[in-house]
Amino acid sequence: MPVVSAKEILDDANKNIYAVGAFNINNMEFLQAIFRAADAEKSPIIIAISEGAMKYAGADMLVSMTRTMSNNFPRIPVAIHLDHGSSLNAVMAAIKAGFTSVMIDASHFQYEENLKMTKQVVSLCHPIGISVEAELGRLQGVEDNISVAERDAVLVNPEEARDFVASSGIDFLAPAIGTSHGAFKFKGEPKLDFDRLKKVKKYTGIPLVLHGASSVPEASSKKFEEFGGNLKGAKGVPFDVLKDAVKFGINKVNTDTDLRISFLARVRESIYTDASQIDPRKIFGPARDYVVDVIRERMKVLGSSGRC
Ligand SMILES: [Zn+2]
Repeated sequence: MPVVSAKEILDDANKNIYAVGAFNINNMEFLQAIFRAADAEKSPIIIAISEGAMKYAGADMLVSMTRTMSNNFPRIPVAIHLDHGSSLNAVMAAIKAGFTSVMIDASHFQYEENLKMTKQVVSLCHPIGISVEAELGRLQGVEDNISVAERDAVLVNPEEARDFVASSGIDFLAPAIGTSHGAFKFKGEPKLDFDRLKKVKKYTGIPLVLHGASSVPEASSKKFEEFGGNLKGAKGVPFDVLKDAVKFGINKVNTDTDLRISFLARVRESIYTDASQIDPRKIFGPARDYVVDVIRERMKVLGSSGRC
């Protein structure tokens, strides 16, 4: 299957109640790990590229590497997706480089401004078959003991989501339901607002996206710290919570932190245990293999294994 829009991948996930991982890349090793895991699991994938990644490696470089990998693994449906596009310029740069899907993140603006920018992106992308994601609410951890008003100020408003989806025409929506980016998501027990999620699903019917959804797997974080790292008690979204999120309507699960921690945990191990090693391939190769297993485990949890 050629590179497709994320809509093609996510509509099937929405219909059949599973989620597809959107995995971030900055370099070749992560990309190879994602494709190898997808091949082993027979899973569709979304390759997520941020503006930071475009700046680091070059959008052309990342897109051509992804297309080359896609030629090598023709059975796997793959979308090339702009993660957190901040402006029309970023979206245009992604289109020019050959992305098949974009996120416009104007969620930090007021509702009207968010809607206006999102509409512009939709009218730019849809005529050329590129899918569009937008975000509502703010991605930050929410404490259990905050007031309803405080909670409403941060998390997605389901009625607003219904209107937003109807008037913007987006293909999938990231509703803020209590996750946050990075490795330090929760102070106490992780708690997502599933009632809100269910309402958003009921009102919109489209594929929904969970950002800040890394799980910080124990084996990786243990290894990271065993070999001199310090994650300061990082906590992610546990697998059973992820499974519930998928059951209640999440179809795209963004994952960056887990891959970073796992890759660097294995790099740390190599450097620590083989201090005279001067061949980067002997350091990065095992780290890449280690990330393959982390991704495969995640694909099983999300239910995307065996779908292609
Ligand atoms: Zn995100």
